[in-house]
Amino acid sequence: MKPSTPCPATPMPDQALLGALSPVLDPGSPAAFNESARALADAEITPYLAHWERQGSVPRSLFEAMGRAGVFGIGVPVEHGGLGLDLAHGISFVRAVMREPAAGVCTSLSVLTHLVAPLLSRHGTPGQRERWLRPVLAGRCVASVALTEPGGGSDLVRSVATTARPEPDGWLLQGEKTFITNAPLADVLLVLARTTPGTSALGLTLFLVPADLPGIVVTPLATAGLRASPTGRVSFEDCRLPREAVLGRPGLAMVLLAGILPEERLAIAAGALACARWALERTAHMLGASDQAMPELAWWDAEIEAAETFVDAAAERIGGPQDQLDAALAKTTGARLAQRVVQECARLSGPGAYRDDEPVPAMSSALRDVRVLSVYGGSCETVRDTAAAEILRGALTPAQGPPTTSQAAPTAP
Ligand SMILES: Cc1cc2nc3c(=O)[nH]c(=O)nc-3n(C[C@H](O)[C@H](O)[C@H](O)COP(=O)(O)OP(=O)(O)OC[C@H]3O[C@@H](n4cnc5c(N)ncnc54)[C@H](O)[C@@H]3O)c2cc1C
Repeated sequence: MKPSTPCPATPMPDQALLGALSPVLDPGSPAAFNESARALADAEITPYLAHWERQGSVPRSLFEAMGRAGVFGIGVPVEHGGLGLDLAHGISFVRAVMREPAAGVCTSLSVLTHLVAPLLSRHGTPGQRERWLRPVLAGRCVASVALTEPGGGSDLVRSVATTARPEPDGWLLQGEKTFITNAPLADVLLVLARTTPGTSALGLTLFLVPADLPGIVVTPLATAGLRASPTGRVSFEDCRLPREAVLGRPGLAMVLLAGILPEERLAIAAGALACARWALERTAHMLGASDQAMPELAWWDAEIEAAETFVDAAAERIGGPQDQLDAALAKTTGARLAQRVVQECARLSGPGAYRDDEPVPAMSSALRDVRVLSVYGGSCETVRDTAAAEILRGALTPAQGPPTTSQAAPTAP
């Protein structure tokens, strides 16, 4: 569980000083981008990681630093204030952050980089972009995506019980969301609510909801993994929203989500695999080249490499007819492989891997974190079943060509 107080023994580098000197992302070339992303993670994340893990949350100043560096605009077109880069760059950033197993930090940042900023850019009105996208990109506005409810997150169409009732001057929001990343720090929540009674996928709408609206209560949740990522439950009681709170069009939330969640799933897969790679390299270093476990480690290395290659190929063809299936396969295989590799590396590392009181309890936090990576973004089993159904459908109807997954149901981040 998250401890509620910071560990006073953790020495904190001078954040203000480092912030002033901090690198920014260099969009010049893939190599320059990668180098700048690593430099940024080294300066702004790695020194504070253990402290944030113990504290149970990243600070707001992290979002400001990442905003200054351009992180939230990686996938946002230049004309909307972003860097105008493709998903490969977003994934490269995730890998840079995950060179240390910073899965909690990565999760909190990814909500903005891979979900909120692109959604606002693609579907926001000029007014919404001005009010929300600009401050999100600058790191002045922390955002959450609130889809999951106490009744579930994988099958959103069936589980969303939060309602937004049309009123003469807007909407009345009522309901509860849970396991919402960044909620305790959030300035704005992207909330999924049912606007048409029944169970139609076209009866759900996304709303931009300022977190300080009367009727909103955020309760922090302590989580066993991703400790640096603040998580919360959010309730909405008679929350009055203006008409312009709708993102996109009423009823089209699942269409908007289907367009973005594959990108997030690929980022989760990349993060999980980076965590596995970190564990592997740490274990190999610890055991030494002559250890009898080396052939096993070499084989896991090859498996990680293959899974990473699939993620990269999927990122390159994102937006095509295969992207839902690609993302489901990458997420399921990547998260599961990472879980297995980290667990095995912990076993080979001996009892020290399970200690939680080292200055940086890295292997123990990697163990906790990889487990969660197979739950959020849609649990591996539900995502696997969706992918399997699509593959079988394609195999059973060869006359209709290769399988596509345009109907695959999106699940919560
Ligand atoms: C740390 C954390 C952060 C999160 N952040 C967010 C967020 O920011 N916003 C948001 O909206 N949501 C968030 N979530 C919620 C998350 O997206 C959902 O919990 C996830 O999609 C799983 O949904 P579910 O709870 O419906 O579980 P289910 O998919 O119903 O799964 C429950 C269990 O049943 C198992 N299961 C399901 N189907 C099968 C099957 N066919 N065979 C075998 N086993 C099966 C699963 O493996 C799982 O163990 C977060 C969750 C966590 C843990």
